[in-house]
Amino acid sequence: MKSKIATTALAIAGLAMALLVGGPASAQAADKPLIGLTFDDGPSPERTAFVLDILKEKNVKATFFLQGSHAQLYPDLVRRIRDEGHVIGNHSWDHANFPDLTQANQKREIDSTNATIKAITGTAPTLMRFPFGNSSSYAMNYIRSIGMSGGIQWHWHVGQPGDFECPGAAGVQKYVTDEAAPGAIILLHDGNDVLSCPASQWNYLAKTIDALRAKGYGFGVVAPSATPSALNEGSYGVVVAP
Ligand SMILES: [Zn+2]
Repeated sequence: MKSKIATTALAIAGLAMALLVGGPASAQAADKPLIGLTFDDGPSPERTAFVLDILKEKNVKATFFLQGSHAQLYPDLVRRIRDEGHVIGNHSWDHANFPDLTQANQKREIDSTNATIKAITGTAPTLMRFPFGNSSSYAMNYIRSIGMSGGIQWHWHVGQPGDFECPGAAGVQKYVTDEAAPGAIILLHDGNDVLSCPASQWNYLAKTIDALRAKGYGFGVVAPSATPSALNEGSYGVVVAP
C-alpha cells in the first residue's frame, strides 16, 4: 500500500512537471473538450469581417453557414473565411423555409448555393444547415444523394434568447456559456436579424471566447457525421479539432 501511494505521488509529481514544462501544444489541445461556434446568415459587410477579426485575434476556428445569395454579393468575405481556416457550410440561397417549398425549389436552394460557394472557393460545402432548422424528408434524402451531411442543428437546451433576439452582450455571453457542453454546436449569426441589434451586443464575442477558455474549453469546427448527435438535436455533424 505504501509503495502504491508513493507511485501515485510520483505520477502526480510527473504530471505537475509535465504541466509546468509544457507538453506538445497539439496534445494539450486534444485533451480539451471542444465547443463548435457556428455563424449563420452571412456573409454580411456589416459584421463578418468583425467576427473574423476577433476569431483571428483569439486564434479560434469556427463554422460559417452561408446564404448563397449573400456569398454571391460578397465573394471577398467568403474567400477570407476560407483563407483563415474556417469551415464553410450551406445555409440555402435566400433563407427559405424548406417545408413550404416544392421539391424543385428545395433542390435549387441547395444546388445554387453549393455552386456559388464552389465557384468562389473551389470547394463545394459538405455540410447543410436548413434555415430555422427546418428540413424535409425530400431535402434530407437529396443532400445525402449528393454526399452532403445534415441538417446541422445546434445545442439548444437552456431556452434563453439567442443573439438574433438582441439580448445584449451579457445576454449572448450567458446564452453561449450556459449552452456550452463538450461537443456542443453553438448557434450564432453574422447576418440578417442580428444586424438590427445594438452594435454594443458584439462585445460578447471576445469576452465569451475568453470565458469559455477559462472553463477549459477549446474550439473546434463542425465535420460530417454518419449518425445523428443527440447532444445537438439530431445533427448529422460533430465538433472536431480544426
Ligand atoms: Zn439562418
